[in-house]
Amino acid sequence: MGGGTDLLLEIQQGSKPAVEALVDTSRIAGLDAICRDGEHIIIGCAVTHAQIARDALLTRHGTCLVESCGVIGGPQVRNVATLAGNVAHALPAGDGSIGLLALGGDIEVTDATGSRWMPLQDAFLGPGQSAIDHHRELLTRLRFKATSLNEGSAFTRVMRPQGVALPMIAMAARLRLTADKTIGAARISLGPAGPVPFLAKPAMDLLQGKAATRQWFDEAAALVLESIPLRSSKYRATQEYRTEMILTHLPMVLARAAERAVEGESGQ
Ligand SMILES: Cc1cc2nc3c(=O)[nH]c(=O)nc-3n(C[C@H](O)[C@H](O)[C@H](O)COP(=O)(O)OP(=O)(O)OC[C@H]3O[C@@H](n4cnc5c(N)ncnc54)[C@H](O)[C@@H]3O)c2cc1C
Repeated sequence: MGGGTDLLLEIQQGSKPAVEALVDTSRIAGLDAICRDGEHIIIGCAVTHAQIARDALLTRHGTCLVESCGVIGGPQVRNVATLAGNVAHALPAGDGSIGLLALGGDIEVTDATGSRWMPLQDAFLGPGQSAIDHHRELLTRLRFKATSLNEGSAFTRVMRPQGVALPMIAMAARLRLTADKTIGAARISLGPAGPVPFLAKPAMDLLQGKAATRQWFDEAAALVLESIPLRSSKYRATQEYRTEMILTHLPMVLARAAERAVEGESGQ
């Protein structure tokens, strides 16, 4: 367990069986740090959302992750809950997972025989089901390539106004622009949509080589809707409402990522 904000509730409420032993990652030396290693930014599994939300390196080189972790729960949750726990829990609406997926993140999985890196999207097998074997493996670190001078990222989410709740829909994007403002590379992630955090591949492919304009951002949002398995949920939002929110907000997220690719990432 990281902060235990999901796990302890699940055990208390009986949706997970009682356990004989828990390994608490929060005080393992070295795993509570955020650092740069060459082109990557590496985040230890004990790093909390609050740490991410105020980190200067991440603000400059992975703004959408700062934005996504900064809205999780309330301050009490963010002070103890970890990005590793968000990813390992594999919820389709995990805000941190959606931010990291747009950045093209990897996770490091460690067992008694050693460690291996795997792409973040391969870690998600289904709702609440990750590829990490919780009985013998730990997610030890997370990483992504730092955004460079011509890259920007952004995240937003739409939720009910009453405060602490999972989102109706959240979305994040990372764009790389060339000198003439053509899109060199694009990544777009959304959730909840389907069983796992959703990577919008057709829309990412569409944007490649296109001008970074509102027209293409609208087209990308429309294309997302052709492939995304949106559904109505009893407590959160109808499929129709989620559709409208994607058409409204995704072009704005893409435009903000493009602006940051020109002006620099800052989270402003
Ligand atoms: C009031 C409230 C509000 C919330 N709001 C949001 C929200 O707005 N957005 C959102 O995305 N989530 C939200 N959550 C869910 C939760 O807080 C986050 O998913 C959080 O990131 C989980 O992190 P944790 O460290 O507490 O995980 P834990 O509860 O400790 O663990 C979660 C799961 O991951 C596993 N795990 C944890 N760390 C590791 C590791 N290093 N290696 C292997 N497995 C590991 C555990 O075994 C468990 O299965 C909320 C929860 C609460 C209680």
